[in-house]
Amino acid sequence: MKLKIALSVLIISAFLVLFYQYIQTSRHSEINDLARQSLQVTNTVYKAIIDTYTVVAERHFLSIMDNTEVLVLLKKFKDETDKSKKGVLRGELYRLLYKEYEQLKKSFNVRQFHFHTVKGESLLRFHMPNESGDSLMDVRYSIRQANTRFIKIRGFEGGKIYPGYRYVFPIIKDQEHLGSVEFSISFEGIEKKLKNILPFYAYKLILEKRISYDAVFAHHRSFFQVSRFDQNHYIENYELSIINKKIQDDIFVNKLIELTKQNADFHNLLHTHKSFSIPIIHKDKGYVVNFLSIYDTTDKIAGHLVSLGKLPEIVNIDRTHDTIIQSGFMIALILFLLIISLIIQREKSQEQQKEMVSKLQQLINSQDSIIILTNGIKIDFANNKFFKFFGYKKLSSFFIDHNCICEKFVQQDGFFSLLDKNIKNSHWIARMKKLPGRQRIVSMRNKNSELHAFTVSINRYDKKSHVINFTDISDTMLEKLDLEDQIIHDELTNAYNRVYYNTNISRLININKQKNEKTGIIFFDIDHFKKVNDTYGHDAGDTILKNLVFLLMQHIRISDKLIRWGGEEFVIISSANTLNDVFQQAEYLRKKIEQHSFVPVKQLTCSFGVAISQEGLDIKETIKAADKKLYDAKAGGRNKVVS
Ligand code: GH3
Ligand code: MG
Ligand code: MG
Repeated sequence: MKLKIALSVLIISAFLVLFYQYIQTSRHSEINDLARQSLQVTNTVYKAIIDTYTVVAERHFLSIMDNTEVLVLLKKFKDETDKSKKGVLRGELYRLLYKEYEQLKKSFNVRQFHFHTVKGESLLRFHMPNESGDSLMDVRYSIRQANTRFIKIRGFEGGKIYPGYRYVFPIIKDQEHLGSVEFSISFEGIEKKLKNILPFYAYKLILEKRISYDAVFAHHRSFFQVSRFDQNHYIENYELSIINKKIQDDIFVNKLIELTKQNADFHNLLHTHKSFSIPIIHKDKGYVVNFLSIYDTTDKIAGHLVSLGKLPEIVNIDRTHDTIIQSGFMIALILFLLIISLIIQREKSQEQQKEMVSKLQQLINSQDSIIILTNGIKIDFANNKFFKFFGYKKLSSFFIDHNCICEKFVQQDGFFSLLDKNIKNSHWIARMKKLPGRQRIVSMRNKNSELHAFTVSINRYDKKSHVINFTDISDTMLEKLDLEDQIIHDELTNAYNRVYYNTNISRLININKQKNEKTGIIFFDIDHFKKVNDTYGHDAGDTILKNLVFLLMQHIRISDKLIRWGGEEFVIISSANTLNDVFQQAEYLRKKIEQHSFVPVKQLTCSFGVAISQEGLDIKETIKAADKKLYDAKAGGRNKVVS
């Protein structure tokens, strides 16, 4: 039982583990799907904003290409070798375009407006006019591309002062290369537009160290500070960046950053350089932190645009899955209790059944009759009495010597047996069931070869088997036989009496009929018996009567029945074909008596009258006829047979 319970606990636990894992997987994938959707939305909006800026940059580039004054200044600058004169030209360019720069800053959040020489050196930074003349070829891929391969480039890029989203155009007039110009969008500009479209997020730009801290002039490194996400990412110093200042003080954002850092996958994901999002459930509220990868103009990772916001739907998903898990566990618990109670109940009923079976077995074994469970041939069960009676220890030993219990039935008058019926062993039950109850009697020998009589009761057990009960009636049977014997025999001589005659005559006639024979009647009477009594006394007379019967019994056939008809008169019922046969039989007996020496009389004779039954005539008539012939024999001198 313990094993069964342990097994069911094991199976249910295994199912629970699988179920739990399945629900957890589903929970994570549903929550992650929602988070990813929010990431995709941010990505789409970000791309749309960049595209808008592309249009703005293209338009301003075209207006510069239309501005002859600017182009003339650039041509002069290219041809001028004198440093101070170059400075004057730079001043002229600044004065020519600084208003436009102010406009660009205000309207479009353009941060950098920057002209470069044909050699890729800084010509004029409108955002920092004092810094110029430095070579950008090595640091700025976009500027190198614009001035060596004369192609326009756009994309995020680090720089000596600020990183930014750059649009760099080569300036070529009348097939002469005059340098390049660059517009760069600050992150604040992009953030502003993002806020317009997706107002429910806070945004942060985290930059790779390589592109920010490492790329700028050493004295500008203070423009950056380490991001709070990890050591390898920098943000613009919040003293300079309005957004960062704002976010720095935002308790909600700080909390989300802390929670993001606790996410097990976060640091790995950050280093895969791919976009990802982290869903967070904190104090029953749902949040998401999206990391949108930003690549530079050389297709290397530049950093991530981080958007942090609420995502309440994931709490519902979470709760739904909690409920499913709780119900799952409840169902498992109920199932478990059910199984346990079933096991216990079954175990109990099995025990009860076992107890019942052993009680039944005891009961059956305590019975005085032989009880077997059989299909006719095979015995499935036999009680102790069976083994005791036949002298076997096991059923298998019994079946070494016998094929069927029916082989034990002894063929005997008045008893059921198979040998004379010539039927198959297995049909003995069916056969016996056809008999009326009082004829269901068999005779069997016990281990000591003593004959016992049994009444047989047959009860169906199931489709194939019967319970058969053999009740030993040997004792009552003998008593009954004794009684019957007494009733039909004459006490003195032990010949049959008139009771026997009355109850058996029709049967005897029938038996003769079946043998195609007639019934012969021999009527005889002792001659001068009165004299014997008178001479030797009544007791001597009795002895003579006994001896006479004893003598005759040895000279009649088993089928002939000797009846003491009364006093010293006898009748023999015999079978014969003709009257002469009966006559001869009587004659034979007459001689035997005549020749026998009785004590104390020397000689005893009898007179005989014989008759044979006639078809359609009552046997009484035949008896009467024989009686008459006996009278004739007496009259004719005695010691005679008359037919
Ligand atoms: P008969 O030759 O004419 O037959 O002469 P009987 O003397 O035998 O005459 P009957 O048959 O009339 O007489 C029968 C006698 O048999 C009468 C009776 O005393 C005697 N008897 C009848 N039954 C018994 C018996 O049981 N025991 C003894 N000892 N005598 C009996
Ligand atoms: Mg007589
Ligand atoms: Mg007589």
